[in-house]
Amino acid sequence: MAGVDAGERVPCPSCGQTVLQKAMIPILGDGGTGMGYLCVACARALITPVADADPGGQDADADAAEEAEAAQA
Ligand SMILES: [Zn+2]
Repeated sequence: MAGVDAGERVPCPSCGQTVLQKAMIPILGDGGTGMGYLCVACARALITPVADADPGGQDADADAAEEAEAAQA
């Protein structure tokens, strides 16, 4: 029975791929009701849109820095 702790394999509810449950990432459902687990690839896909928003924020910061430089010159 020592091998049981090695990792239970469960199917990802999103993509159906069988992955180690330990490696899955907990995801909150809509409105925080019901928590599910997704494989790393699916969890990353959910997180990616948030990461894409960062470059836009950096652009805004760069614009502000340019304006400050222009004001000094
Ligand atoms: Zn998946």
